[in-house]
Amino acid sequence: MPPAFDSPGPLVVFDFDGVLVDGMPEYWWAARTAALQLAPRLQLPESAPAAFGRLRPLIHKGWEMVLMAAELGRDELDIEHLLNDYPAALASALARWNWPAGLLQQQLEQVRAGAIGIDEAGWLARHRFYPGVKQRLVRLGEDGAAWAVLTTKGAVFAARLLEAAGLRPEALFGHEQGSKVEVLRHLQAQGRPLWFVEDRRRTLEAVRADPELAMVRCFLVSWGYLGPGDGQDLPPTVGWLTPEAFSAPLAQWP
Ligand SMILES: [Mg+2]
Repeated sequence: MPPAFDSPGPLVVFDFDGVLVDGMPEYWWAARTAALQLAPRLQLPESAPAAFGRLRPLIHKGWEMVLMAAELGRDELDIEHLLNDYPAALASALARWNWPAGLLQQQLEQVRAGAIGIDEAGWLARHRFYPGVKQRLVRLGEDGAAWAVLTTKGAVFAARLLEAAGLRPEALFGHEQGSKVEVLRHLQAQGRPLWFVEDRRRTLEAVRADPELAMVRCFLVSWGYLGPGDGQDLPPTVGWLTPEAFSAPLAQWP
């Protein structure tokens, strides 16, 4: 029988925005710029309004940020109504503006690619890695683990931020590679223990609802873009990952 230390440690799969990186200034800047290109008469503040921060935990994909930036420019917008039923508000906003999701995503990514081309240092500076994240990722190898990134961002943008920080994940999956559930299923087929770290509770609930992914260990980070109550009454199959727990050896993770 091989010794226990020969068994592979887990592949720890991290969401990007709200888990590794806080890019709130960039999300607003890019979403606002894209929205203004599509609707030049919009009036939008240069700094992220508080309502955008409240919306961020509900946002799943980048294109939604562009649509929400446009919505925030409407005088008649009822923000509480929007927050109370985001999926319905998203659908009616798409119909109101008559912009396909694909166009919004393309516009957002053009803005980002343009910013990197013109002033990459300025674009990078709109993001910061959460405290301790870089060091902890480097140390994962000492725990016998590997790590990967699974994001709804375009892969090229997450890759640029990781590279600038000197970080090399074993793999990186952006929205181009399919849904997070699809990518996790694919990774699970490799036979290595799989851990998944997210800040969006709905995404973890989608993973937990998939019987094929029952063996994936799931964690909700305490420091990400959480909505009110997201950290409460977690099912026992989702660990609550505080910065202290994150910095502890993997064997001690909740
Ligand atoms: Mg996130």
